Amino acid sequence: MFSEKNLIRVREGNRKPVLEEGEYILYWIRANRRLAWNHCLDYSIHLAQKFKKPLVIFESVMMDFEWSSPRLHQFLLEGLCDTAEEADRSGFAFWPFVETIDRRLEDQIPSILEKAALVVTDDFPCFFLPEHAEKLGESLKCKLLLVDSNSVTPLASYEKDYSYARVLRPRLHDRFAESYLFHSDPKPKAKGLPDPKKVSRPDLLFAGKREDIPKYIQKMKCRFPEIRPFPGRIGGRKEGLKILKEFIRTGLPYYSEEHSEPRPPTTTKASSLSAYLHFGMISAEEIVNAVLGSDPKVDWSPDLLNSSYRGKNAGFFHPNENVNSFLDELLTWRELGYLLFYRSPSFRKDLSILPDWAKQSLHLHRKDKREYLYSKEELENAKTHDPVWNAAQKELVLTGSMQNYLRMLWGKKILEWARSPEEAFSILEDLNHKYAYDGRDPNSYTGILWCFGAFDRPWFPERAVFGNIRYMSSDSTAKKFKLKPYLAYIKSLEEGAGPDLFA
Ligand SMILES: Cc1cc2nc3c(=O)[nH]c(=O)nc-3n(C[C@H](O)[C@H](O)[C@H](O)COP(=O)(O)OP(=O)(O)OC[C@H]3O[C@@H](n4cnc5c(N)ncnc54)[C@H](O)[C@@H]3O)c2cc1C
Repeated sequence: MFSEKNLIRVREGNRKPVLEEGEYILYWIRANRRLAWNHCLDYSIHLAQKFKKPLVIFESVMMDFEWSSPRLHQFLLEGLCDTAEEADRSGFAFWPFVETIDRRLEDQIPSILEKAALVVTDDFPCFFLPEHAEKLGESLKCKLLLVDSNSVTPLASYEKDYSYARVLRPRLHDRFAESYLFHSDPKPKAKGLPDPKKVSRPDLLFAGKREDIPKYIQKMKCRFPEIRPFPGRIGGRKEGLKILKEFIRTGLPYYSEEHSEPRPPTTTKASSLSAYLHFGMISAEEIVNAVLGSDPKVDWSPDLLNSSYRGKNAGFFHPNENVNSFLDELLTWRELGYLLFYRSPSFRKDLSILPDWAKQSLHLHRKDKREYLYSKEELENAKTHDPVWNAAQKELVLTGSMQNYLRMLWGKKILEWARSPEEAFSILEDLNHKYAYDGRDPNSYTGILWCFGAFDRPWFPERAVFGNIRYMSSDSTAKKFKLKPYLAYIKSLEEGAGPDLFA
């Protein structure tokens, strides 16, 4: 059931009417690629009941978006198969559509939209989706509603966005208990909704079968056909849930102390859930719920929230430090980026968001001599003098992932080795979005901008190129962590990839 408390998650995408003559309520999945734990579906169910119309769920995979590749297409199509199964199990009318060179979305979608009484869609605040929603709102004859199912706390409940985690944290803590109580439905059902059988199902829908995926991928135009899927990374909700379960068993108990250590995926203590979160295959709410209930010694309820730790990055959510440490990343740090984009749809994806001290410091050191200068091509091909950096870059290219601590080092070094901060930003944005499964996300920008001083403070002593921006080095990374197993893992990946890739 959709609670009135969650109306704050809903915003109008246009000022058009609900069409009486419309055949159905249409929920167009563009970001939350799941049915469970989805406020957008919950609200669509509520509207179908209210207007006594069948509910149709339409999920599309577009082909030629910026940075598209077979890697991303396959991840998305695997997800689509899982949503089709989920819809089948829970009785929803589900129309999955995959765009191919002979079946363009723009040709198919008008006939689906024109029969809708009302369209509901995901309010994802980044990449091409806000602009897409705006155009959709203009082109529709009926009302468009956008629903935020991005996190536990509705983004609209914050008055503004925040430049520092420490400023957001107490506000997030204040909102958490109530938001958590009004979470989305873990098991939505179509039972009781008007019968969708009367609605004619369009031809040309994806059958939702895994064996069809290669055939579709061959017909999907994309920007980077050479970027292949990584066999160790399977898309979809089922895989996301499997990873969550494994993380709770083997990663969470060590998270606080060990999640920063770069390790092979079999021994990492981080969750590896970011790609599933990015594509909405798993929800932040359900991860929070699973993690809070994961300690058999603690019967967790919101009464255990510890207000004496309000605003602190430890101690607030749970007596277990690992749970707190993980939730601070998943809630505070993740929400910082989502809020930034949600609050400023015209947010400029460049260095203009940096605090004044960082802008000034970078400017003062703009002309400093760079000890090493690399072109974008050299960086992309991992051709630097630095073996730790090269390994991180190879991990990104080969697997579509990079561990968080190395990702920070990776970004800092590009700032150090590029001709200017602007060039460094643009290389980082491009490489991150092109190769990473979790790229093109608000977190991509908060992560990249952090390397340039955003959300951080000035550091001393002042250095060449960096000025007062926090500096990181591969030598200190190698001293801080035992990198041998990680470097051996990357070497084995490289050997498996064949001799030419980084030749
Ligand atoms: C240069 C750079 C680029 C980055 N690009 C991306 C990106 O494209 N997409 C992306 O999701 N994250 C990005 N990050 C943030 C962070 O590296 C990843 O979220 C994290 O490594 C994902 O791994 P995990 O799921 O195992 O994280 P875990 O440690 O298990 O954390 C759980 C979840 O919390 C969130 N989270 C964790 N750390 C951060 C953080 N520092 N900032 C914001 N949210 C966080 C993520 O959603 C993550 O999945 C970037 C960081 C840097 C420094």
